[in-house]
Amino acid sequence: MDLTQLFGSNVFNDQSMRERLPKETYKSLRESIRRGLPLQPEIANVVANAMKDWAIEKGATHYTHWFQPLTGSTAEKHDSFISPTESGSVIMEFSGKQLIQGEPDASSFPSGGIRATFEARGYTVWDCTSPAFLKQDSAGNVTLCIPTAFTSYTGEALDKKTPLLRSMEAVSKQSLRVLQALGNKTSQRVASTVGPEQEYFLVDQKFFLDRPDLILCGRTLFGAPAPKGQELEDQYFGSIKDRVSSFMKDLDTELWKMGITSKTKHNEVAPSQFEMAPIFSSSNIAADHNQLVMETMKKVALRHGLVCLLHEKPYAGINGSGKHNNWSLSTDDGLNLLEPGKTPHENEQFLLFLSAVVKAVDTHADILRAAAANAGNEHRLGANEAPPAIISIFLGEELEQILTKIAKGEKAGSADAAFIKLGVDVIPTIPKDNTDRNRTSPFAFTGNKFEFRMVGSSASISGPNVTLNTIMSEALDYVATRLENAKDKNAEAQAIVRDIFNQHGRVVFNGNNYSEEWVSEAAKRGLPNTPGTVAALEAFVTPKALKLFSKYQILSERELHSRFEIYAEQYAKQIHIEAQTMLHMANRLYLPAIIRYAAELSDSYTSILDAGITSKTVKSRLDQITNVLDKAQTQVNQLADVAEKTSAIADVAKRGITYRDAVMPAMAALRESIDALEQIVDREHWPVPGYLELLHIL
Ligand code: ADP
Ligand code: MG
Repeated sequence: MDLTQLFGSNVFNDQSMRERLPKETYKSLRESIRRGLPLQPEIANVVANAMKDWAIEKGATHYTHWFQPLTGSTAEKHDSFISPTESGSVIMEFSGKQLIQGEPDASSFPSGGIRATFEARGYTVWDCTSPAFLKQDSAGNVTLCIPTAFTSYTGEALDKKTPLLRSMEAVSKQSLRVLQALGNKTSQRVASTVGPEQEYFLVDQKFFLDRPDLILCGRTLFGAPAPKGQELEDQYFGSIKDRVSSFMKDLDTELWKMGITSKTKHNEVAPSQFEMAPIFSSSNIAADHNQLVMETMKKVALRHGLVCLLHEKPYAGINGSGKHNNWSLSTDDGLNLLEPGKTPHENEQFLLFLSAVVKAVDTHADILRAAAANAGNEHRLGANEAPPAIISIFLGEELEQILTKIAKGEKAGSADAAFIKLGVDVIPTIPKDNTDRNRTSPFAFTGNKFEFRMVGSSASISGPNVTLNTIMSEALDYVATRLENAKDKNAEAQAIVRDIFNQHGRVVFNGNNYSEEWVSEAAKRGLPNTPGTVAALEAFVTPKALKLFSKYQILSERELHSRFEIYAEQYAKQIHIEAQTMLHMANRLYLPAIIRYAAELSDSYTSILDAGITSKTVKSRLDQITNVLDKAQTQVNQLADVAEKTSAIADVAKRGITYRDAVMPAMAALRESIDALEQIVDREHWPVPGYLELLHIL
């Protein structure tokens, strides 16, 4: 099929709506979508019916309210369209009520204490700004998916989408205040936009199936380094192998059908690591699409005998995977608010929005850090071979220079030949292309957007974007209030930029974030550095955070506490499962295999002796192996013991912190012994495939 026809063929998009809905209904639906208003029941009935006919024509038998519970993945319960008639046959039915609202049994989703199981009711409500789409599986099932938000009976958020929609509303409102204070009369809405680049690994399924750690935890818990890692730097942007290319082709086709703008694909830094980037869209759609991207990657990989690993750190010693969250704000009339303009006036607006980002990120670096915290990401932030968990902003030399000058009250731009001076105004012309990008920065300005690079590859992007939009709402509120109260807007705009840069300039850092010096420099500047996941998550429940999120009506105190509980609990459970998997592998795979090998070596040793020869090599290998074996057995016992004790700690925060401080070191110790053995035990005896097979054979 022609790509332009294929694209969006499984989406009930604007074109399908226009074709299938009566004009008035279409107009009124468009209006609801544009203004983010609820749908009238009469309209909903007509829309539902058209949607059903469209879906059935494409082979659908079922529909589902598709939502994003706090587990971080997606949930769906399929209902068929059939409805019985009096004559005993069935007709296909789908009402407006079924479209707008669902009532799944919510008792098994985490609610962090918000909803007791005896009042399990939860509601799913259509987010009509994200279009309905069809999901096809390889068994031939076609399901109409309605993107929904999921709330409790009392309206509290039980999902990742509800706060995202609330935060989009808040940041729109505050941005408009700033724009209006600057004299903008045309913009009516501001959308936060996101383009999430998704990194992932592929591994041959036949090796994957022999690795309980990959099956259960998505990452290797053991594994000596392969003789070759990523040191030759021959993988990044390298030519794509046929097998991978055929997977990518299939992936693109599936994504395009669902209207997902898969744009870029390439090899990443580590062996068997890849990336897919879509074209950006508004945050809620980007978040929906990213969930579908992750799900589709996994599904399509299997069709090619591959397994897609989305874990943040599947392999020790080489790069992990992240999700670069490219974020900006744009108006409904097409202005990107983080795009430097051509005139001093446009640049005044740009510098105000840029300053708001600097203020927001410095004031709430701890919350932003927390928004990227999960068990997998702990290995990417502040751990071995990983950048520190410090938030700083890369602006690039030129922008920093401009801001520094403004902060000092100097005339920016007039002295520097690089800036074409367009007016007598002190607001300078910003050099267009900010190409000198710093790849080590966790939060980098890349010309017309910010790239938040801390987000984990397996995580939902909702949380990070809720945080970005919320902290921006507060900073823009500050900017707007000052502008609204000022007589001379230009003078005030400059004063705002100056004040913000003077107060928050410490968060700007253009140097190498991976260097030792930065860690101590950041400490001197007073920037927070919290490597632990649970300790980082605590930023969600500080008085500062509770005040911020409730002020802009994003999350109430109860909702925040429940989120903290759920995420801390998830962390503790994840580490517990990893510890149990290690014990399983050590007890049932590694130790028995090593014992068998030791027995064989000792037989060889005796036969060699019997032949009247003494072999130092065999004896020393045997000694070495049995020594490490004994050590490993002791470490197994210690790990079992500490994991059991830790799992009994009642307080979830304390439990999570103990998993990190006591269980993870015991895991690391056991791994060290087993990995050492892997390097000396006969390959034929080794019970699982190693890094060589996992990383280098595709
Ligand atoms: P890279 O950072 O790899 O050089 P690009 O700069 O081309 O790649 O874009 C990276 C991602 O940023 C893409 O997903 C792109 O759609 C997205 N992006 C571009 N402009 C914006 C914007 N205004 N808002 C949000 N995301 C954007
Ligand atoms: Mg990028």
